[in-house]
Amino acid sequence: MNIPRKIYRKLRKIINNRNKPPQRQSIRSSIKSNKEIVTIQVGNREFSIKGKRYGSEIRENSDYALYGLAALSMTYNLDIHLDGVVTNDTYIRISKLGELWQSWNAPGVFPLGITVSEIIKPENVERPGGIFCLSGGVDSSYAGIGAAEDGYTHALLIAGADYSSKESIGFQQLKDRVSNISRYLNLELVIAETDIRSLRIHWGYFHTLLLAMCLSYSGSGLGFGGFSADNTIAQDYERHPWGNNHAVAAVLGSKDFPINYRGGDRNRSEKVGYIYKYMKEVVPYISVCNKDKNIGGNCGTCRKCVRTKLNFMANGIDYTPFFEKEINIIDFLERRIEIPERVNDIRAELMRQYDIYFSIQDGDVKVAVCKYIVKLERLLRKRIKYDNNYNYRSLLTTF
Ligand SMILES: [Zn+2]
Repeated sequence: MNIPRKIYRKLRKIINNRNKPPQRQSIRSSIKSNKEIVTIQVGNREFSIKGKRYGSEIRENSDYALYGLAALSMTYNLDIHLDGVVTNDTYIRISKLGELWQSWNAPGVFPLGITVSEIIKPENVERPGGIFCLSGGVDSSYAGIGAAEDGYTHALLIAGADYSSKESIGFQQLKDRVSNISRYLNLELVIAETDIRSLRIHWGYFHTLLLAMCLSYSGSGLGFGGFSADNTIAQDYERHPWGNNHAVAAVLGSKDFPINYRGGDRNRSEKVGYIYKYMKEVVPYISVCNKDKNIGGNCGTCRKCVRTKLNFMANGIDYTPFFEKEINIIDFLERRIEIPERVNDIRAELMRQYDIYFSIQDGDVKVAVCKYIVKLERLLRKRIKYDNNYNYRSLLTTF
């Protein structure tokens, strides 16, 4: 097919521009607060956080805003000046976060640039109670059990993370399930809503910044916050770069409002076994399914549901009461599972399958898991062009 030269040039220009990184831009940011809504203006755009602020002696600073602004700065190559007051420790730690991401050279991440009009020392006030992110999945339910024993008082569910708004049917159903879990954990369930995702921050890298933002906003009068690890430290290495990791968690929060990272001591199979053993009542309310965000429950037939079934099997637990449908797991792993395409997703899937492989009993299912792992490993090698140093040595070398 012959494309006229003029149109070809235009198309070329569009394609070239798409691949160009955005120019560094300097913009200003300000915060408007109106009862239970804060609106954060960023250049010509804005995002908001809605919800009550809990605890006693609500902090006056705007530390929470730094987390959202950091995500925007690193996603869009922005130097942001915030007209606001933040505490010194949070500001230093946010700079550390920028250094981490810059040194990791993650594709699509730009250097962090944030300045603020006033940096203060936090008031010397002891605030009782803590707030913990509870999304109703395996990780936060497991970590929530420990948090409930360690003095946390509130559980935070965020609208605008996996579901676009508080009004979506999926979120309503999730809320019912999470409120049951928080009841068993004896934590007061609170909800914060944010629309920062509509500004399309790099979600895989910066979703933990959204958690930190909502924790320090909703917990403005509480002593500390916390959220759960997806992975163990060893798994963080398997799945890098990914935003929920031990290094990122270590620089979130401040001396005045520490944000603790919980649950990185066990992998997913171990977490499922622990919850079943120590708080069986919450198991029917755990949500793992990602098939249809409009319905609650666990379909039993999607990749995530099957993976969780395998986590149950690895503990020798009958999973059938917790899933809607039963399927042939071996057939699913060998023929029907949707295999991830991108390097990061292959790594994440491999990490979870190794976890199952190492703990599941010998038998046909373990063989199927093994075959699936081999398939993923081959795919990963194909996708990554290894440096010469990492190539296998020649098989002709004998000893
Ligand atoms: Zn499912």
